[in-house]
Amino acid sequence: MPSPRVIAIQFDGLRADALSEQSTPNLLAAAERGAWFRNHRSTFPTSTRVCVSSLATGVYPEKHGLPGNSLYSRELGRTITTGRHENLLAWERAMGGRLLLRDTFFEAVGGGVIISAASSGSAWLWNAGRAARLIHPVAAYPDEGRETIEEVREIPAAGEPDLPRCAWALDLALDYVIPKLAPAVLVIHLSEPDSTQHHQGAAGAVHRQALEGVDRLFGAFWERFQRERDDWPQTNLLLFSDHGVVTIAGMVDLEAELADLPGRGENWQVAHSEGAALFYAQSEKTLLELVAFLRTKDWAGPLFSQGGSGVEGSLLGTMSLGLAGCGGPRAPDLLMGFQWGDGFLPGENRAGALPGWGYSSANNKGSGGTHGSCSPYELRNFMIACGPAFPAGARVDAPTGNIDLAPTILSLMGQETSGLDGETLTNFSKETGEERVYRVESKGFAQTLSRTEVDGRFYLNFARLEKA
Ligand SMILES: [Zn+2]
Repeated sequence: MPSPRVIAIQFDGLRADALSEQSTPNLLAAAERGAWFRNHRSTFPTSTRVCVSSLATGVYPEKHGLPGNSLYSRELGRTITTGRHENLLAWERAMGGRLLLRDTFFEAVGGGVIISAASSGSAWLWNAGRAARLIHPVAAYPDEGRETIEEVREIPAAGEPDLPRCAWALDLALDYVIPKLAPAVLVIHLSEPDSTQHHQGAAGAVHRQALEGVDRLFGAFWERFQRERDDWPQTNLLLFSDHGVVTIAGMVDLEAELADLPGRGENWQVAHSEGAALFYAQSEKTLLELVAFLRTKDWAGPLFSQGGSGVEGSLLGTMSLGLAGCGGPRAPDLLMGFQWGDGFLPGENRAGALPGWGYSSANNKGSGGTHGSCSPYELRNFMIACGPAFPAGARVDAPTGNIDLAPTILSLMGQETSGLDGETLTNFSKETGEERVYRVESKGFAQTLSRTEVDGRFYLNFARLEKA
C-alpha cells in the first residue's frame, strides 16, 4: 500500500516564538530530524482564509484574489463572511465560477485529501478548485464521502481547547485516510492553538493546555505513523502555522465608529474582520475622507490603497497595496491594518505570555487574542520540514513564508513551480536576504513597511503607522 508522499499539517495561529522544549517538545523533535525555517513569514492580511489561499496556491493575495476574511462583493452588493463555505459558494457563483484566481497545488498534483478541524470556509479554500477530497464536519467534498467517514469515527463537537477535534483529524488520517485512500498529498488543518488564543490570548493556563495538547497529539500521530507504516521513511512531513497572534488592546466597534461618516452604502462600503478592515468607494474624495477620519483614531494602523508609484498608494499618505502583495483585481480600494504595539499592555499578566498587542474589530470570536494586521507577532509563523528531501538538523535563516508551501509540495511531487510567488523549500538559499524599509510621510504621519527581499521575492516583516 503506497503511503502519502507529503503530509502537511497546519497548526493554526502558532507563533514562531511559542515553540519551546517545554510547550512543543514533539515539534522541536521533528525540527531536530529535519529542517527548521527560522525566518518564516505569513501573508497580509494575516487572516486564516487569506493565508490558506496563499498556502494552497503559492501566491500573494493580489494573485489568488481573496482579499480578506470578510470582503465586500461588488457583484452581489453585500458583505461576505468567508468563514462559512455556503457564503463562498455564493461568491464563487457571482465571480463567474472562480473562487480563487489561481489553481491550488491539488490541481497539478491530480488530487489529494484534506482533513480540516477548522472553519468550513478555510476547509473549502484549501480545496478551492475541488481537485481534492475534503473531509470536514459540515463541508465534505464530494458530499457522498461523508457517511463513510462518520462510520469510521464520530466527529466530536468543537470545544475549548478544541483538542478533541484535532485528535479526530489526526486519528482519521491514520485509521482511514492513509491506509484506505492512500493520497499522495494529505493536508491536515488543526484548529489549535488559534481557537483558544481568540478567547484567551497567547497567555494563561488554557492557552498552554491548547499548545501543549496539540503538540502532544502531533507527537502521538507521528509515533504511530512510524510504527504502523513501514514506508514512513519516504514521506515528507511539513509542519507549519498560517499566522501568529497578538493580545487584544481594545475591541473596536467599527460599525458604531463609522456611523457618523455620511454616505455609507451609497458612496462607500466596509468589510472588517478582527485585525483588518477593507474599504470600497468609487470616488477619490470619499476615500480621502475615510483616510482623514481613520487617522483621528488611535486604533487605526497602516493604510494601503490601489495604484500609486509602487511604494506610495494613489491616496496621499498611504502605501501601495502592491508593496504588501495585496493589490490585484479583487482588492479593496483602501485596506487598513489595526494598530499594534510591542511589549505588554499595562496590567497584563505577563507570566508565560507572549509580547505584542493590537486592536481588533468586534466579532463573536472572543476578546483575548486577534490577528489580521501586520505586526511582526502576526507575521512570524513557523515551518519545520522533515523527511528524505530535508537534511536533518538544518537551520535555515533565509526568509521563507506561506507562499513557499505550494511550490514545495509541487516540487516534491515532480511538478512545475513556475509563475508562483514562492520558492521550493528544498532549494533554500544560504542568503539571508536584505531587509528594506519603505517609508511614506504626510500630514504629521509616517508609515513604514519592512520586508526582506531575496532573489526577487519578498517576505513581510511589519508595517507600522506613527505620528511623525
Ligand atoms: Zn489561522
